Parts: sequence; C-alpha cells; structure tokens
Amino acid sequence: MDCIFCEIIKGNIPSTKVYEDEFVTAFNDLNPQMPVHVLIVPKKHIASANDIAEEDAFLVGKVFLAAQKIAEKLGLDNGYRIINNCGEAAGQTVKHLHFHMLGGKTMGEKII
Ligand code: 5GP
Ligand code: ZN
Repeated sequence: MDCIFCEIIKGNIPSTKVYEDEFVTAFNDLNPQMPVHVLIVPKKHIASANDIAEEDAFLVGKVFLAAQKIAEKLGLDNGYRIINNCGEAAGQTVKHLHFHMLGGKTMGEKII
C-alpha cells in the first residue's frame, strides 16, 4: 500500500510532529492554510471518514482528545477549527483519515 500518512506515522517520511500517543499522531501540514495547521491522524489506516467501522468509533474520540492537548500545547486559547474532507467532492487528496486543526488567527468567514 502506498500511503503517505502511513509512511509519516512509521517515520519513513519526515514530518514535524506536535503530538503522539498510542492511537493518534499529529504533525504540521506541509502547506499550512493558517498560522497553526496541524493534521491529526489515527495511526490505523482508514481510507476516509466514510470507512470508519463500528470498532474504530473510539478513534474519533481520541482525535478530539488529542486536539485538546494540542490546543493547550500550542496556546490556542481562543479556539480552533477542525475539518475533515471526506471523498473526492470534498477535496480529500490523501486517502488516510485525517482532521485539519486550524487556528492561530480569528476566522471570520465561515463555510458552515
Ligand atoms: P486533504 O486535502 O486530503 O484533506 O488534506 C491533505 C493534506 O495533507 C493537505 O493539506 C496537504 O498539504 C497535506 N500533505 C500532503 N502531503 C503531505 C506530506 O508529505 N507531509 C505533510 N506534513 N503534509 C502533507
Ligand atoms: Zn495510511
């Protein structure tokens, strides 16, 4: 399997890690869209949000618990936004479930 994020998780492709635990890793996006742009990634290869199985459900909770810790570490005291792109129409380019954590400036324009 040819998956960039699996290679990052294994350490075969370098990344700037900001958080890691047994289930989840998080690293800076290569092409940041905000002052803080972290990708939170379950270590298990799951292709997209649409491929989360019942047995994986707890992983999504782990992602949000990781986000709390990252927010504290990076000083995102005023909040942050978490986005998941699921599938082609949403612009998902890497087929390994991941959540964009954005922050570091006030987000005025909302898309939802
Ligand atoms: P998607 O469009 O699938 O929701 O988001 C994929 C994200 O992964 C993009 O924001 C892109 O910049 C990021 N990305 C792609 N390849 C790499 C990489 O090799 N390293 C890192 N750190 N980010 C990557
Ligand atoms: Zn993968």
